[in-house]
Amino acid sequence: MYLQDRSPYMENSGSSNDRNSGKTEYQLTLIDALKKEIEIARRLDPEKLAAEIKKTGFSCQNCGKCCKRAFGDNRVVLTPQEIEKIQKYTDLSKLEVAGPLIPDISCPEEAGEGEEDRVAENSSIMPEIDEKKTSEPFRTPELLKEDIDPDGNIHAYGWMLRRKKNGDCVFLEKDTNRCRIYPVRPMLCSTYPFYIEGLKLYTCECEGLGVHISAEESRKLAGSLLSRYVSELEDTLAMYEKYEDFERTEKGHEIAKNNLEKGTCIYIVHDSRGITKIID
Ligand code: SF4
Repeated sequence: MYLQDRSPYMENSGSSNDRNSGKTEYQLTLIDALKKEIEIARRLDPEKLAAEIKKTGFSCQNCGKCCKRAFGDNRVVLTPQEIEKIQKYTDLSKLEVAGPLIPDISCPEEAGEGEEDRVAENSSIMPEIDEKKTSEPFRTPELLKEDIDPDGNIHAYGWMLRRKKNGDCVFLEKDTNRCRIYPVRPMLCSTYPFYIEGLKLYTCECEGLGVHISAEESRKLAGSLLSRYVSELEDTLAMYEKYEDFERTEKGHEIAKNNLEKGTCIYIVHDSRGITKIID
């Protein structure tokens, strides 16, 4: 799956704080660039995009590979609105649906891929929830060093769908590759394998590419893709505007390391609505 880098922090950005906004020059530049991109994105021609999609061709083969970690980075980034939609549909809590968006460092082999699932599939929409299976197991403070504050909290820039211990999406039905939340699945899933970046159309690796798609389906996909593109940019912009930077210290790193050794991670998740502190 395609994920934009959402961190508003860049090491050695060499920027001083702007006194009026409390933001670094680098952050202000990001905000400015995003505003411009949103303006242009809103004017993109859906007909031209539909023609490109039609030329590329696509039909879902129901292989389920895009939902499985074994076939690549399958993280699905979620906006707060998408989380609420899934919660409403499933009756699950926010933290059962989503966790902090962190780098894809889980390793399917070490995570015990192939283990038998122990959770009964007693509902058509319930995910395979199990505390141990759904938390992201292989986290290391080394990789997240620049995201740790002096209190040892790990900062994450957005949310992603929960995954099972083997890395597969919790909403993927194991034997049928059916999506349990299909009517409310995230925009990233409904527009896969296409994505727009820097105003250009790209595709991820997918068995369904190159297969005939009707003009009507291409138009529908183009509409969804454009609205996903604009929503994601707007969501990132709102998050950047609310973001307040923090210090990075050795002490904070040590605290996070100790927490992790005890099996706890304290996250501060930044999103378009502000921050949420969670223990995961
Ligand atoms: S939400 Fe559905 S389509 Fe998206 S990754 Fe999960 S199972 Fe696949």
